[in-house]
Amino acid sequence: MSDISTSSANFIRHIITEDLASGKSKQVVTRFPPEPNGYLHIGHAKSICLNFGLAEAFGGRCHLRFDDTNPIKEEQEYIDAIKADLRWLGFDWGEHEYYASDYFEKLYAFAIMLINRGKAYVDGQTADEIRENRGTLTTPGQESPWRERSTAENIDLFERMRNGEFAAGRYVLRAKIDMASPNLNLRDPVIYRILHAPHHRTSSTWAIYPMYDFAHGQSDSIEGVTYSICTLEFEDHRPLYEWFLRELNIFAPRQIEFARLNLDYTVMSKRKLLQLVTEKHVDGWDDPRMPTLSGLRRRGVPAAAVKNFCERIGVGRAANRIELSILEDCVREVLNESTPRAMAVLRPLKIVITNYPAGQVEELTAPNHPQQPERGVRTLPFGREIFIEQDDFMADPPKKFFRLAPGREVRLRYAYIIKCDEVMRDANGEICALHCTYDPATLGKDPADGRKVKGVIHWVEQEHAVTAEVRVYDRLFRSADPDADKDNDFLAALNPESLEIVTGCRLEPALAMADAGDTFQFERLGYFVADHNVSAAAPVFNRTVTLRDTWDK
Ligand code: ATP
Ligand code: MG
Repeated sequence: MSDISTSSANFIRHIITEDLASGKSKQVVTRFPPEPNGYLHIGHAKSICLNFGLAEAFGGRCHLRFDDTNPIKEEQEYIDAIKADLRWLGFDWGEHEYYASDYFEKLYAFAIMLINRGKAYVDGQTADEIRENRGTLTTPGQESPWRERSTAENIDLFERMRNGEFAAGRYVLRAKIDMASPNLNLRDPVIYRILHAPHHRTSSTWAIYPMYDFAHGQSDSIEGVTYSICTLEFEDHRPLYEWFLRELNIFAPRQIEFARLNLDYTVMSKRKLLQLVTEKHVDGWDDPRMPTLSGLRRRGVPAAAVKNFCERIGVGRAANRIELSILEDCVREVLNESTPRAMAVLRPLKIVITNYPAGQVEELTAPNHPQQPERGVRTLPFGREIFIEQDDFMADPPKKFFRLAPGREVRLRYAYIIKCDEVMRDANGEICALHCTYDPATLGKDPADGRKVKGVIHWVEQEHAVTAEVRVYDRLFRSADPDADKDNDFLAALNPESLEIVTGCRLEPALAMADAGDTFQFERLGYFVADHNVSAAAPVFNRTVTLRDTWDK
């Protein structure tokens, strides 16, 4: 995690440094507060790295708090997935795992306190009436006819709300602030609503649930959070956040807002991600095209790359969009160092080496990582029949094509130079194989004496090859900002070619041993990860990302 604690400065870090120096705050306690209504995405990672990073940098602590105040949308599945993703990123919240629902009793007591101080009232207006009477940005709201209810009556009604005596929507509890405030959040916001829905932790203990704004700040305060860091949409909520803490006269954390992450060619709203899953536009929350952390993991993206990415994009207050290439570069940087090399042919073209003895197989050696000799070597079988990539042959090539063509030579990586003598075609005239000859004197000699062989291509020996399926992913959306088109739903921007399934790929034999999650560089092709898909007939590999530059420069 040192890549985060030693990170470049961000404005929040400056604020905290000043607060500590002036004595305004004594310690750094942050929190990451997900609502367990979906899986974490890379936007959350930005918040996670920021909150855990600050705690670490200042020797404080970061809490994991589930903001579970809406029983209708929340599930244990999401809690488990969120924790697994945090652990995968390498963050540890220790014993500081909290749930807003653990504070329901305290929050209720806070609400009673507000009523007793004349700062909250039970409103009998319908949801529609409340909305209509809220006013607009240019006109003040209308006060509720129930605003001046007596304290005794408010207490009585609120207790009966809690006891489940009323149907949902019959009453709400509202803070009594200012219906003429220019900030709409201060126009007597609803702080409790009736919901007859069992909660995943408190089951049917409660018939009323606090609203987000009422639960969030008070939860921060109860936990002694000193810095409540949130995204910019909450800037207008800050006066409300502070109003509650002031009226309740409890410890007040400092709220600081930053710009959320927006990433090109994807969406970040959990509602939309859920829709992609439930309507089966993708294969679950962990589909490798999803911006979720579980999707990125299944795609083969290492946690270190996600953290480096969050570091690189920085933390500011200006809303912006981040190019996908920045994330891809972070992924390549980590995988280039970490992955062993392997040979894989995605679209095989058969080659018969006519001067190589039939039935003979020799074992050639190749480094596991060319820049890291300490990682040792592996053996590659070589024989009379091999596969190369269809793209690496052209029957009628331009001059600058340095790979295989009739009458031309090419080097097989870690093996011999071969020459194409004859192109074999099937009944339809399609190329089905090449007949070549190899030069036994060229093994491991590069460049071979006096020969101008520029191209080096990858290959896999036929008999020992593993047949596999490779899933090649493209962007999930066609447009950089799928939400930008106001006339069409974001689904209209889905890329119909975001997944290409390539079957009949041939891999070097060692890849038969790959476990789900193992990543490799397939030479010249990119980075790939073994998938956990067990239902497929052949092993499945997902393409994580292509190589930065093509091989044949
Ligand atoms: P929704 O998509 O429903 O608005 P949310 O993204 O706010 O939900 P939460 O579970 O409330 O989801 O988010 C937990 C934390 O992650 C919040 O503190 C939120 O500010 C932060 N967060 C969410 N999305 C982003 C993002 N794109 N960039 C940075 N931080 C984010
Ligand atoms: Mg939220």
